[in-house]
Amino acid sequence: MNFTELGLGDEVLRAVGDAGYTIPTPIQVQAIPMVLMGRDILGCAQTGTGKTAGFTLPMIDILAQGRAKARMPRSLILEPTRELAAQVAENFDIYGKYHKLTKALLIGGVSMAEQIKNIDKGPDVLIATPGRLLDLCDRGRLLLTDCKILVIDEADRMLDMGFIPDVERIVGLLSKIRQTLFFSATMPPEIRRLADVFLINPKQITVAPPATPAETVIQGLVMVTHGDGRRPGGGQKEKRATLRQLIEQENVKNALLFCNRKRDVSILCRSMMRHGYNAAQLHGDMDQTSRMEVLDKFKKGEITFLVCSDVAARGLDIQNMSHVFNFDVPTHAEDYVHRIGRTGRAGREGRAFTLAVAEDAKYLAAITQLIGKRIPPVNLGGEAVAGPPAPERPRERPEAAEAG
Ligand code: AMP
Repeated sequence: MNFTELGLGDEVLRAVGDAGYTIPTPIQVQAIPMVLMGRDILGCAQTGTGKTAGFTLPMIDILAQGRAKARMPRSLILEPTRELAAQVAENFDIYGKYHKLTKALLIGGVSMAEQIKNIDKGPDVLIATPGRLLDLCDRGRLLLTDCKILVIDEADRMLDMGFIPDVERIVGLLSKIRQTLFFSATMPPEIRRLADVFLINPKQITVAPPATPAETVIQGLVMVTHGDGRRPGGGQKEKRATLRQLIEQENVKNALLFCNRKRDVSILCRSMMRHGYNAAQLHGDMDQTSRMEVLDKFKKGEITFLVCSDVAARGLDIQNMSHVFNFDVPTHAEDYVHRIGRTGRAGREGRAFTLAVAEDAKYLAAITQLIGKRIPPVNLGGEAVAGPPAPERPRERPEAAEAG
């Protein structure tokens, strides 16, 4: 199947060609013609499947056929996090480069003034996180009654983050005559219920079974022991030392390092820097400007190791990321899938390693159950994990300084 067979207009096809895509991904093959036909979509797809282009490309074509009025945008994309919203906005610019569509990115943590200016210009598309959007509606800055296309992306994440009441309120502000595209990586009962309420006769599209890690990700589990290697379990210091050993064994090009707690994000980041690694951190307590700066540097390759929390890293789309390291085993099994899905994207191979201590047994069991297999154990210092070797990394780090 070729992009030209999906019914997209010439300008969008040209932009897709410029982006370097030649073959549409399965979700794009299934979703694009349906969206162009005006159907509602219930998409069960994880990030990395190309779902963003799956809804953005046909939306651009549809929106190109009309014009928005001031304060009354014609379409709305809801995203759970600011980073994800900013990323979708970037996608809109890339795929819409041959159109004159306007957008407004409405996210918290930054000044409202600029956002209000953009709303007043009459944007074709709003890309928003629920809190800021409701804030602007409540202040009378925005009317959603003209929104004829609604995208709810990463619905299961919205649920985890407690945004569902906000989402329900927002949907109540839209006209009932609209097209709704609803995406979620997993479909727990609460998400099904919402889909039943929000969608009319949707085309259901499932591109990978819920919560199946991308097949292009090679996974490994490292059990951390105390210094003498005999006692099970291990402290933070042992974990950090093990992580460094693993990193040295792996030739990392760029990696996300996940911690469960914000506090540990800072500690691990400082430790990595002390040991001469090119590291930075990303967590929910940072202001939006610093978050964007860090992300930008990471994307440009100016930062090699990004230490982060789940919320901050949700949905990040970074090209060619070679590795994901779970410094902590996630306590929600779904987060494991989301985390390792940050690598191995769009058919490229990635490597994901998890550090665990004896106390993590119940979380590992939940992950085993969710992904349908055990994470293969890795013998540190011995044979590397199965799969082709990881890419060479330019060695830039000076001698390690203090321990821990
Ligand atoms: P997403 O699942 O939307 O986060 O997309 C994952 C990655 O796949 C992004 O880096 C996209 O730029 C890329 N991508 C989307 N569609 C295609 C395609 N048809 N061919 C190659 N890469 C794609």
